[in-house]
Amino acid sequence: RYAYVNGRFHRHSEAAIHIEDRGFQFADAVYEVWSVRNGQLLDADGHFQRLQRSLGELRIPSPRTRAALEQIIAELLRRNRVRNGLVYLQVSRGQARRDHAFPRTATTPTIVLTCKRLDFAAADARAEAGIAVITVPDQRWARCDIKTVNLLPNVLAKQAAQEAGATEAWLVDADGHVTEGSSTNAWIVTKAGKLVTRPADNHILHGITRARIFQCSQLLDLEIEERPFTPAEACDAREAFLTSATSFVTPVVSIDHHTIANGRPGSLATALRQAYLDQS
Ligand code: PLP
Repeated sequence: RYAYVNGRFHRHSEAAIHIEDRGFQFADAVYEVWSVRNGQLLDADGHFQRLQRSLGELRIPSPRTRAALEQIIAELLRRNRVRNGLVYLQVSRGQARRDHAFPRTATTPTIVLTCKRLDFAAADARAEAGIAVITVPDQRWARCDIKTVNLLPNVLAKQAAQEAGATEAWLVDADGHVTEGSSTNAWIVTKAGKLVTRPADNHILHGITRARIFQCSQLLDLEIEERPFTPAEACDAREAFLTSATSFVTPVVSIDHHTIANGRPGSLATALRQAYLDQS
């Protein structure tokens, strides 16, 4: 297996960054994840645009043009023989003696790319069965719209989910509303058949798949209400589901061990998953 680090491909087991890298020291870094299906990046534009925005918000200079990144990604996928899976990209502010403030003299951003195979058949099976989620307090900062590698609250939330026998954790803010999942956006369907998801403000990541569901919902003639919802409303909803680049649309069939509707994936979530895959 191979990884790309700062201009070169290395064996994955030998690829390394410096101990004074600000990504390692301070999580002073952003990342992006693309799904790869049949050798193609899914929603390439959206993920490249979000990468630019994340870099801009942290004032990290863009280390490569999009065209250059696309070439690197194509070569990475070729070397690793990945046709179905994901590409992970991380850019940190670079290497400097440890000091919280930005280095006085400009550093060269560190850039790392890896990829791995994913078994989308297993993901399909998970979607057909539906998944369980638990809720945990949202303990993150106020700029969740920037895709930084500062993921410790997300890590702890996902671990809590696994320990509870669930697949994902939904994060609940101080007002008692669901913000999003630890690595997914959260949705419910009301009894009247409307889709509900939290507005894309600074408390959630603006999911690229979330944005695509807005397009798919138009095709299916579904209405979306962008507003916060509580775990209680979700438990009582007709359907619930989550979205992300690697899980597409995945129906949620229980929340905190409470079964949603008849405990089976909802028809709208299933239709949206199909519409998303058909349009990709
Ligand atoms: N929310 C969080 C916190 C995430 O980490 C992710 C993806 O990694 C998402 C939502 C879903 O975003 P996307 O659809 O762009 O993968």
